Parts: sequence; structure tokens; C-alpha cells
Amino acid sequence: MTACGVQRSFDAIMGRPLCKPWGDAMQTSHFVSALVLTATLACPHAARAQLSRVYPGGMHQYVVNSEMQGTAMAPSVVEFQIRDTVAPTQLPSVTHYSLKIRLFPEEGKLEVVATMTVTNKTGQPMSDLPFLLYRLLEIQRVSDENGLPIKFEQTIVKVGESNLQASLTRLRLAEPIASGASIRVAIAYRGSIFGYPEVMSYVNDRVSEKYSLIRPDALAYPMLAEPTFESLRKAYGIDVPFTYDLAVTVPDEYLVACGGAPLTASTKEGLTTFSFKSKVPTSRIDIAAAQFKVLKDETKKLAVYVLPEDEKNAIEILKGTSRAVSLYSTMFGELKDYQGYTVIEVPDGWGSQASDYYFLQTAAAFKDLKRILEVYHEIAHSWNAKAKPEVRNTRWFDEAFAMYFQALALREFEGEQAYLAEMDRDRDSFIKRAQKDKKNFETPIAEYGKYDLGDNSYSKGAWSLYVLHQLVGEEQFKQIVRTFVTEFREKPADFKDFQLVAERISHRNLDKYFQEWFYTSGSSQLLVDRVSVTEIVKRY
Ligand SMILES: [Zn+2]
Repeated sequence: MTACGVQRSFDAIMGRPLCKPWGDAMQTSHFVSALVLTATLACPHAARAQLSRVYPGGMHQYVVNSEMQGTAMAPSVVEFQIRDTVAPTQLPSVTHYSLKIRLFPEEGKLEVVATMTVTNKTGQPMSDLPFLLYRLLEIQRVSDENGLPIKFEQTIVKVGESNLQASLTRLRLAEPIASGASIRVAIAYRGSIFGYPEVMSYVNDRVSEKYSLIRPDALAYPMLAEPTFESLRKAYGIDVPFTYDLAVTVPDEYLVACGGAPLTASTKEGLTTFSFKSKVPTSRIDIAAAQFKVLKDETKKLAVYVLPEDEKNAIEILKGTSRAVSLYSTMFGELKDYQGYTVIEVPDGWGSQASDYYFLQTAAAFKDLKRILEVYHEIAHSWNAKAKPEVRNTRWFDEAFAMYFQALALREFEGEQAYLAEMDRDRDSFIKRAQKDKKNFETPIAEYGKYDLGDNSYSKGAWSLYVLHQLVGEEQFKQIVRTFVTEFREKPADFKDFQLVAERISHRNLDKYFQEWFYTSGSSQLLVDRVSVTEIVKRY
């Protein structure tokens, strides 16, 4: 095999590391845990390969033959998605969801009427609206804001090139939505969900007597997207956040928990309806129903929903949540739009999730209080600055901060030794990753997004902040983070913005530190050599 061959691109498809030059031209991007391969025509081989098939959703199949590679290999087929040469389809956005949900835990079914405000920010009139739903959810009726039926067709499709099957419904509007205008559509549907464990192991979402979970991960509510991961990712309200209101009806013995603010609960004929609204404009809706016990701290607006078998530790989780909110508020400033916190226990293996002022926490942290660290981590995410889209995938702006904050929480609640031990664990984790794949060692933090190496922000990213903290000292570090988080709460930031804030507050030239930690991989050697933080700081 030559240095550049088709076999390598297959390796990539199998999830193993990419090699150059395919590695230069192709990027893998993990959306949830499904692998999406993307490529640009910059790759000389792809450019010379013959396009043999175009699949819906931007997947392309190429035949690359031996002649093109200058080797004696048999012709091979490569499939990937073109990212930069084909403009991604622009779609309008859902800017408000109003969901009326009835859960039937005994039957394992749900019935939903989803009324959505769809806003057209594409700059051109749009008359086709594709919606993705879980494959076993059947649409009963689609209507416009006057209650008149809208024509639709529902088909089963694959999302991207993955095994993730979804139902795709295309609404054809009689009148296009003008640019800048909004319309309302209502989709009534019912059926079952069983998650996507075959594709994403954590998505076990279902309606059942033990536990019911409704999340976008299982497409339990309509996502305005084409069946590609790129389009689906956009349908989460990350760039265009949405608001919501919900009414969820369950048999009496169940409690409904949701990331939104609870409004009312009313009981009638053995059924209780819980209503909620979004705390702030947000990117996702998470709803759980079970025989929860709920613990509240009214002054701090905290609520913990726990399964009965784990009730005994719930008070510690509530206290941990409260402690972390107080600590981060003191160190890095009160959050202007603070909305309290809702913590919702999900069964083990169903995946923790954090969003605006709530998180889903797997049972492990409720059973083993050593894992309360995960609570400190999730809450820390509320003190994240907003990252520019081009650096978001480095995960530094969210995960480096959350990991370092959780270490600071340990320092505060358990002492210096626990803090130092946590930083040692982060360094060990980076060293292990660097040994496993030298790309983790060689790639600067600022380039993590490009090569999908953002997982290193959990280890080396945390260390980058640790070093800065030791370098500028306690007061200035707090001031830098506080300023950065305040100034870039709405306006998105990149690494240069962080450097400007850090230099302005510390009155130092931090060029060498930023070069070694963000723009080159110089700092990787310092970590692998286990140079002490005191020694590292002397370099700057
Ligand atoms: Zn995190």
C-alpha cells in the first residue's frame, strides 16, 4: 500500500484515524456518535475520481481506480459527503415549539400535537419544509394556522450515510413563506419510540412505565431538517435558538420533569397535565416522566428529580448543585439571566445532557457520590462564553472551562490535594491520548476543530487554563474569566478575543503562552514530560 490509498479512506469510514494526504482533505465530524465523513475537492484524488452516484442528502460515491493512485490497486469505491463545494441547503428555522403531549406508559406510546412557528431567515421565499421524526411516529394530520390541512408525504429515509432511519415528511405549502416572514404549522402524530441504540448507544429514549424520555436525539419531536447530519445539526437551535411551551399529560402516578420552567400541574380523571415554558431561548427540549421524587431549593430556584431507588443521595446532589452555583457566581460573576437549575436523573447509559439551566444526569452520579464532580461540571457550562462557529468544534470554549471549573470546585470543597490530583488526572488522560495517536500531540488547540480532536479540550484544554491561572494569579484569573464570559455571552469569541481580554486584564504580553498553548503544539511536550506547572509558568 502506498502512502496514500483508498484503503485509508475506508479506514476512516471504519472510524480509524485518517492519514495524510487523505487526512488533509477529508475531515471527520462526529455528530452525536454517528460518523459523517466530509471531504473537499481539494484532495487531488477525489478531484480525479469519477463520480458514480449522488445520493440524496449530499452523499457522493466515487470510484477511485489504480491509475489515479499510481499503484496496482484494484478499483475501489469511496463514499463521502462534499462540504465546501455544494452549498448546504438553507432552510427556515423553528423559532417556537408548542407541544401537547400525551404519554401512555403502559402501552409504550405517545400522541403529540406539535405547533411550530417557522421563520424564514434564508433570504428567499420557501415553500418546501422537510421535517424529520422518529421512524415509528406516524403523522395523522398537518394543518396551517387556520386549521386547514396541508399536503404532506411521509417516507422512511436514512440520515446521511448512517444506519439512522428517520421518517421524512415534506410539507408543500400552497403559499411560500416570504423572506423574513413566519408561519405556523401543526403536525399531529403518534406512535412509539425505541431510541437509536444501534447507532448511538446512549439514545435509549422510549415511553415506558419505568422511564419515559423525549429528546431531539431520538427525533421525538419534529426537526426541520433534510436527512443529513449537517442539516439536522442546524435544526438544533444553536445558531437560531427557539422558545417553547409544553403541556404533557401522564397517568396520575407519574411526575413530568423538563428543562423548562414549570408552570402548572392539574389533575383530572386520573391524568395529570404538567405545563412548562423554556427558561431562555434554547437549542433543545428534554422531557422525562417517571415516578420521580422531587427535591427543591426555592431560594436558589433549584429542583432535583430523582428516581425513588436513588432518593437517599438526592439531598447531596441538591446541595452540590447549590454549592457549585454559589462558587461560580462568587468567582466569575452572577449570571444576568440566571434561571435556577433543574437536575433530572436518567437511567444509566442513557447519556447525560446539559442545556440552558438544566441537565440530565445519569443514575451513576446519584448512586456514587464521588461522581458529584459531574454535577460541578455540568453547572460550569452556564459560565461558558459563546464561541464563533469556526472555533466551536475545538470544544475549548466550553469543555476546557467546564473541566477546569470542576477542578476549582474540588479545590474549594475538598481541598488543594483533590485539585492537584484532578489536574494530574487530566494530564495523564492527555498523555494517554497523545501516545495512542500522535495527532493529539501534534495538533494545536486552535486547530482541534478542523481535525475533530476537540476531546483533547477536556484534558489539555483544562491545563491551558490551569497554566494561565498560575501565571497571572488568583485575582487576575478570576477577573479574566469574568470579563471574557460577560463580554462574550452573546457576541461570539475566538482565541484572539480571549488573548486580548487576558492581556488587557493582566497587563502582560502573553504571546509566548498563546503560541505554545493555542497556536502551536509546543505545550504537548511539556505535558508529556510532566513538567510541573511552576516550571511551565517560568517560561512566560
Ligand atoms: Zn461538558
